Amino acid sequence: MSSLTIIGNWKMNTTPSTARILAAEIRDRLRTDGETDTLVVLCPPAIALESVSGALNGSGIAVGVQNIYPSTSGAFTGEVSPQMARELAEFVIVGHSERRELFGESDEFVGRKVAAASEAGLRPILCVGESLDIRRSGHAERFVSDQLLEGVSRLDNASGLIVAYEPVWAIGTGESATPEITQMMLATLRHALVSRFGEQAASVPHLYGGSVNADNIRDLVRQPDIDGALIGGASLSAESFAAIVKNAAEICA
Ligand code: PEP
Repeated sequence: MSSLTIIGNWKMNTTPSTARILAAEIRDRLRTDGETDTLVVLCPPAIALESVSGALNGSGIAVGVQNIYPSTSGAFTGEVSPQMARELAEFVIVGHSERRELFGESDEFVGRKVAAASEAGLRPILCVGESLDIRRSGHAERFVSDQLLEGVSRLDNASGLIVAYEPVWAIGTGESATPEITQMMLATLRHALVSRFGEQAASVPHLYGGSVNADNIRDLVRQPDIDGALIGGASLSAESFAAIVKNAAEICA
């Protein structure tokens, strides 16, 4: 497993044709930069999966989906099952704070998605993170540990899992968490995962997400428990995203 993981979450941006162009630009910049040892994953909107997969074919860059519904098939209008996604993607983002807030997804529902993803052979990228109010109350560590343990409650082991700590107050705000806070939170999460699954869970990649850019990535990945990043806004620019991958890889080399 790669020691550095960088994931781009394009959210509800790009069309199938502009997504193909962006993926190809990222592919070309990373090919030029020769970042072959880093696990890079792009998560476009579901409707652009096929065009992005085509653009990335043979590049070593993996594809993820931003969401799944935890059922194999059936009367779930508008939803995508893990089995459907698995034909085009290897990863799925689960528990993103936007889905928790805007779509009312509970810890229990997130846990069902994680289990459904794993069963279908998709690697879940399980997002957890506290609001500013919870951080100010002093309960951030307990809060994210509970989110994590609920999220993995239906799993027998942590195989394939990726954990992303994304404080809500840092997402899309330009205000990244400090490397020190992030280190402490990710160490806490890793400890919780190891307590749940045993030592094999120590190698699960633990990422940070929230206003990451080509500058702040360096100090983040210098921390021992930060194995990479989940990038929102900056993943929509091939130049920025490739610079993040390159700068992180330099530190981790
Ligand atoms: C995200 O939404 O997962 C994210 C990290 O966004 P941004 O990088 O824009 O803060």
